[in-house]
Amino acid sequence: MNDITISIQDKTYRSGHLDDRQHQAIADLQLGVGRNEFVCLLGPSGCGKTTLLNMIAGLDSHYQGHIRIGSQAATAKIGYVFQNPRLLPWYTVRQNIEVVFAQTPPAALIDALLADMQLSDVQQVYPERLSLGMQRRVAIIRAFAINPDILLMDEPFVSLDAPSARQVRNLLYSLWQQRPHTVLFVSHDLREAIALADRLIFLSPPPMRIISDIPVNIPRELRNDEAQIEAFREHLLSQHPAINGLL
Ligand code: ADP
Ligand code: MG
Repeated sequence: MNDITISIQDKTYRSGHLDDRQHQAIADLQLGVGRNEFVCLLGPSGCGKTTLLNMIAGLDSHYQGHIRIGSQAATAKIGYVFQNPRLLPWYTVRQNIEVVFAQTPPAALIDALLADMQLSDVQQVYPERLSLGMQRRVAIIRAFAINPDILLMDEPFVSLDAPSARQVRNLLYSLWQQRPHTVLFVSHDLREAIALADRLIFLSPPPMRIISDIPVNIPRELRNDEAQIEAFREHLLSQHPAINGLL
């Protein structure tokens, strides 16, 4: 049984001007995600990935179709890591995490997440003093801390240098292994996606549809082995040459 069921018939952006220019972002997209599955969405820039995450998060309800999360969509808790970390500059690292709680923040959980993400030492520091990789790690903690029904991540490692991206990726991966959650992760980096995902969903240019849905069967303990990732990638591209032109 799927934890998340997405069925979009149509998502069209309208300019709202007199000429009413329209842009159909999504035409017919069906996707089911299992409980605690880690799914990566891959597709060219502008294909509609952020649009889809915003719809799942409930930030955009102007579409035809339905999205069901868990058993009670109305009360679903959504964790969202945006492409930009969106930290509040006047709050410390710890306050940036605590701010998402209406009631008393869970101090022990926040302590544990800060330790797992190697940020305990900077929890009283303001965001401007952090590297981009550290800011991204704070945004990831903030999303995990509410124990969401679904965790949405929109290219959270974009514009990091390769070693920083790998470090944050490995930290995220071990965090997710210790605290399994259902994840939809947008990426345009095939190696990164193979290292993280249970399943890869390749998306077309607009109007967006699913081109292929491919399981990643590399054992968990081998996910930071670059040779395994590279071998999987080469096999994938030889089996599905259309993917080459997409990313
Ligand atoms: P991606 O995240 O895959 O790069 P987006 O979801 O941001 O793509 O955008 C998908 C398409 O929808 C693009 O062609 C973009 O120009 C268009 N689009 C995005 N947001 C809006 C908007 N608010 N109004 C009109 N068109 C938009
Ligand atoms: Mg985007």
